[in-house]
Amino acid sequence: MMVDQLPEELRALKTQMKTFINDVVIPREPELMSDDANSEEVAAELKTKAKESGLWALGHPTEIGGGGLPFMDFVYLNEVIGRSHWGQWAVGSLSMQDSIMLHLYASSEQRERFLEPLVAGEIYPSVGLTEPEVAGSDPTQMQATAVLDGDEWVISGHKWFTSGANRAAFTTVFAITEPDAEKHNKFSSIIVPTDTEGYEIVRVVPTMGHTGGNHCEVNYNDVRVPYENLLGGRGQGFHIAQKRLGPGRIFHSMRWLGQAQRAFELMCERAKTRYAHGSYLAEKGDVQAMIAESAAEIQAARMMTLDAARAIDSGSEARTEISLIKFWGARMLHNVVDRAIQVHGALGVTADTPLEFMYREARYARLYDGPDEVHRMVVARRLVRDPYDGVPWA
Ligand SMILES: Cc1cc2nc3c(=O)[nH]c(=O)nc-3n(C[C@H](O)[C@H](O)[C@H](O)COP(=O)(O)OP(=O)(O)OC[C@H]3O[C@@H](n4cnc5c(N)ncnc54)[C@H](O)[C@@H]3O)c2cc1C
Repeated sequence: MMVDQLPEELRALKTQMKTFINDVVIPREPELMSDDANSEEVAAELKTKAKESGLWALGHPTEIGGGGLPFMDFVYLNEVIGRSHWGQWAVGSLSMQDSIMLHLYASSEQRERFLEPLVAGEIYPSVGLTEPEVAGSDPTQMQATAVLDGDEWVISGHKWFTSGANRAAFTTVFAITEPDAEKHNKFSSIIVPTDTEGYEIVRVVPTMGHTGGNHCEVNYNDVRVPYENLLGGRGQGFHIAQKRLGPGRIFHSMRWLGQAQRAFELMCERAKTRYAHGSYLAEKGDVQAMIAESAAEIQAARMMTLDAARAIDSGSEARTEISLIKFWGARMLHNVVDRAIQVHGALGVTADTPLEFMYREARYARLYDGPDEVHRMVVARRLVRDPYDGVPWA
């Protein structure tokens, strides 16, 4: 469905959300970006405003405290939420994929302890898969272990890039519990409250000139948690991670579209107002090409993302569609932000516009949730087997 064909009610909600992000969240970005304690206060203020405006956690099921919007409706909203890096945070959709994972697999006690406060925005989650010693793009190589001792798991391991661990209430860690099983059935997912003895945040890893981020290196020094902290069944870790990542990639992709669209608007605005060599930049062929290429890439990514979301919504795992949007969407974002910086000249690389922050995030996007190359490999393998996989109308 094209955006102008959306039902009136959804279109109105999208407009309301866009206004909230543009007028309430974006003006607070400089404070949110400054890693000081004040940023949490600003976030709390924005969360309250989102709740008061009826915009909180709209995509979460109602039975866990969300707005109960159907998946496709939320997908349309997520693009405008993504206009600000802090949009998801402000409107309670930051951790959609973690909520989905818990909603699918958590026991009633886990739901009460972790899921409900998560949806209410009272706590943050984190997820520990990647380890520095082995290739994260091939998670069957993970080495962390969880061994049963009586009715407790004893977890040992070394993870990094556990995003948000420094403010999270818990980490869902993936570790080997079934060493003799086939490689995809070796791992289980276990919830570890971050205040558990032996859970040690070694450091926040500085990334691309940013020292105050949230990507953490974590040691698990014989961390003991009760058997009941197991999420889902023993050996189901891979399956659970996949369930988390599928819709998660759609949410990322829509958010990237929001970022790209905003960068695009900034690029057009600058091109209209910057004058050089006898005309505005918007009148130069090179700049026009950058604008046109960006518009085409954004629109292509948007259509592909909506198609992948439609496939998921119809019950498919949409492996091909999701891998297509992962590498295409991340590259699109990177290209568009790069061109927007170019058109801004030196201003583009300063912190006086959001572009340099977006550029860092765009670079990360080509790595997280599986590097682009791995997704290209997945797509190629599937299409060699069946050239119509994921494109049934072709
Ligand atoms: C900003 C950010 C946030 C992240 N957040 C989390 C998180 O919250 N939790 C978590 O567990 N992890 C997280 N990660 C880690 C991320 O999932 C891994 O970086 C990713 O899976 C790649 O693993 P790796 O870094 O070990 O790279 P490697 O596996 O060592 O791969 C290095 C490179 O090798 C190439 N490559 C790999 N496989 C192939 C192939 N089959 N064909 C061709 N080339 C290939 C690719 O170019 C790839 O970039 C995050 C990463 C980033 C950058």
